[in-house]
Amino acid sequence: MVNKQDVLRALSRVQDPDLQRDIVSLGFVKQVTIEGGTVSVVIELTTPACPVKEMLRRQCVEAIEALPGVSAVNVQMTAAVRAGATAGQPSRVLPGVKQVVAVASGKGGVGKSTVAVNLAVALAQSGAAVGLLDADIYGPSVARLLGGSGEPRTTPDRRLLPFEAHGLKFVSMGMLVTKDAPVIWRGPMASSLVAQFLTQVAWGELDYLVIDLPPGTGDVQLTLTQTANISGAVIVTTPQEIAAEVSRKGLRMFGEVHVPVLGVVENMAYFTCGKCGEKHDVFRPAGGRRPHQEWDVPLLGEIPLEPELSALCDQGTPLVTSRNDGASARAFAALAERVAAALSILEHEAARTGFPAAIEAAGEQLLITWDDGHQGAHDFRRLRYHCSCAGCVDEHTGERKLTLEEVDSAVRPTAIEQVGRYALQIHWSDGHSTGIYTFALLRRLCECADCARRAASAAHSRA
Ligand code: ADP
Repeated sequence: MVNKQDVLRALSRVQDPDLQRDIVSLGFVKQVTIEGGTVSVVIELTTPACPVKEMLRRQCVEAIEALPGVSAVNVQMTAAVRAGATAGQPSRVLPGVKQVVAVASGKGGVGKSTVAVNLAVALAQSGAAVGLLDADIYGPSVARLLGGSGEPRTTPDRRLLPFEAHGLKFVSMGMLVTKDAPVIWRGPMASSLVAQFLTQVAWGELDYLVIDLPPGTGDVQLTLTQTANISGAVIVTTPQEIAAEVSRKGLRMFGEVHVPVLGVVENMAYFTCGKCGEKHDVFRPAGGRRPHQEWDVPLLGEIPLEPELSALCDQGTPLVTSRNDGASARAFAALAERVAAALSILEHEAARTGFPAAIEAAGEQLLITWDDGHQGAHDFRRLRYHCSCAGCVDEHTGERKLTLEEVDSAVRPTAIEQVGRYALQIHWSDGHSTGIYTFALLRRLCECADCARRAASAAHSRA
């Protein structure tokens, strides 16, 4: 008779190709039931939009079927998106929201809103709870694209209730725009209004919130990116060089605020001839590298030029709902899967390193208690020395520009901030504050008695 241990052992040979670990140690196997020769298992993935869901299901079935004594196998695939907020705590600004995706572009007209809307609808179609925030205050178009309109309702505590259409919730910052508003939006008030707006929407529980950012890289984009605790950014561009060139700025902006760029979507990437079915690169300049190659980030998707798109937009019908079988709809569905997978991978990596649960200065040391119980310790001076910002390390050679002896012996942190879900930014008493210490780096640099002993014995065995 087959038992639970046999089933788990068989399932531990099934690997998640994205997270590069087996599904048992990833904790995906939620239930194993055995009745006679019938084995039923429940597998919980990290996103309903998992691109390898079918492949994993098949591999689970095959692994269990190969066990002696098994006559029937039921594999049920479920999903729970993991919360991606600071140190495992939900974001203060968006408490019920697990993952926030920003959709950005360098300039207007490249199809950023079209991509944001269709990405959100495709994620919702996979079974996720999805919200869409139209933050493109200069040209709000989400309401038009989704066919929603009218005055928004509010909750008793005066928070905005989002509209609902096509299986998702959405709200537009354009609702704030009155006829005098353009003046305000250009002034310094814009950023604080935007940040305030974020807290005033009653989203409820969401797996993904997609934010359609305004084009470009101004104050409003920066404020939103910093306050919304964005899990990852998607950059929309077209093959035309000029659009690609301006998006580079967006890439730099996310780098500066330490938001991971998940990749690039190339919109209007090609045109398929209705008569001969041949693909044409309409806008792509001959030769030359493509934006994602130039920037060394993943290509998340290529969306074809879709002549019907404008007409569909005017009807408030997102492409993914109207033409499920078309090339563009398939491209958006694949985009949603890649975005969901990229977020799951980031989340998995962050969770593996752990989060600092408490940080304190004691004597000449920074003490970090990690949520896995590890008691980390760092000598101030050595930690300052290990700063890996461009000012301290040569970008090309990787060489340190200062020696340990050159670091002020009395240096100490004056302030410490957590950056996203993966790093600390330490402000030092010598005035230096551009360094970001990722959690992974801090774990590697740890000088606690245990880690010091382990490092010494590793050095000994190498010698
Ligand atoms: P942005 O948000 O970057 O300003 P929009 O999403 O509003 O751009 O798109 C600009 C215009 O281009 C819209 O009229 C839209 O319908 C059209 N458009 C966007 N993507 C495509 C596409 N793949 N094929 C055809 N038209 C498109």
